[in-house]
Amino acid sequence: MSKTFAGAQRLGRIPPYLFAEIDRKVQEKKRAGVDVISLGIGDPDLPTPGRIVSVLQETAADPSNHRYPSYFGLAELRESIAGWYNDRAGVELNPGTEILPTLGSKDGISHVPMALVDPGDVVLAPDPGYTVYVTGAIMAGAEPYAMPLTEANRWLPDLDAIPAGVADRARLMWLNYPNNPTAATADRDFLERAVAFCHRHNVVLCHDAPYSEIAFDGYRPLTLFEIPGAKEIGLEFHSLSKTYNMTGWRIGWVCGRSDLVNLIGQLKTNIDSGIFQAVQWAAIEAINGGEEETRAACAVYARRHRLVAATLNSLGWKIKPPRATFYVWAPVPAGYDSIGFASHVLDQVGVNITPGVGFGSRGEGYFRLSVTAPDARLEEAMNRMRKLQL
Ligand SMILES: *Cc1c(COP(=O)(O)O)cnc(C)c1O
Repeated sequence: MSKTFAGAQRLGRIPPYLFAEIDRKVQEKKRAGVDVISLGIGDPDLPTPGRIVSVLQETAADPSNHRYPSYFGLAELRESIAGWYNDRAGVELNPGTEILPTLGSKDGISHVPMALVDPGDVVLAPDPGYTVYVTGAIMAGAEPYAMPLTEANRWLPDLDAIPAGVADRARLMWLNYPNNPTAATADRDFLERAVAFCHRHNVVLCHDAPYSEIAFDGYRPLTLFEIPGAKEIGLEFHSLSKTYNMTGWRIGWVCGRSDLVNLIGQLKTNIDSGIFQAVQWAAIEAINGGEEETRAACAVYARRHRLVAATLNSLGWKIKPPRATFYVWAPVPAGYDSIGFASHVLDQVGVNITPGVGFGSRGEGYFRLSVTAPDARLEEAMNRMRKLQL
């Protein structure tokens, strides 16, 4: 074997990691002694609620949880999820056939193309968007097709703009509302049109909904299966990561049409061996325990959003705090591209934000900032931003 090893071609097809340059600069600044404040990553700073941690501690000590778990998750967990969905959305899901727990939703999202599409099939994905929709499609040998999200379309894809030839070859469509990175939300009318499109073209509609509970001022995002006909063509991906501050725990689920759920389960039996049962018991506690802590976390995010909007608006932006998610998505000032602006902010004030182009070429011209930094750090970041020379 030669000294350098190029790796598999499929890895070579994955677009370059555009945050690498920024990451390098952040590390450089830190080495030079700069106290960098990171608003770059969507990872809740608030801790997992104590009642959930306690259940993990208790169940981790029980040897019955130490062996291989079931591939399909504890029946009690699937029942809790079904109960949650019913309470939250008035939708019935069969816990035996329509729900599959996953190792975080990224597990389900990255693997679903491998279970459902063939090489040469088209996977429709929003641009800008969570990059795993595209990389998962590439890993499966499929062809990703970008659905541009634009401010003019309120960050909703224009379904009529998808060429007929593409729609006919498409097997899967990704949607994600409330949206990362744009913080946009989808109304019923749009979701109904998406469901109709997928019925018409025989496309599996995959709705990624990790922010369904991160919403403000009484707004309740729609879940996919509240749309009539959605379960006949759709899957929805949920996560405990954002709702219960559990990003490190790796637990979520996919639910929807039973044969599709079953195919993902069949694939996963060949990839992983289930979720540590103590984590599943903790997830049951999380889901059954009500939404008081989530509402309290949302009140914190809403307050932080108001601070960020006030700060940016004092510098000349015209943004409104979003209705959902912990992201701020805003245009970069004239004269910068998104990477240039993120570098400038890092250089001038030591605050790390994410260039929009990292989420796809249509994200150029924007940046994303996450309000998941502790209050004092976010306040300090905003005080620094007020001194930014544009
Ligand atoms: C955070 C996030 C996920 C993944 O969360 P997991 O921790 O893997 O459950 C999925 N999709 C989007 C859009 C996200 O922002």
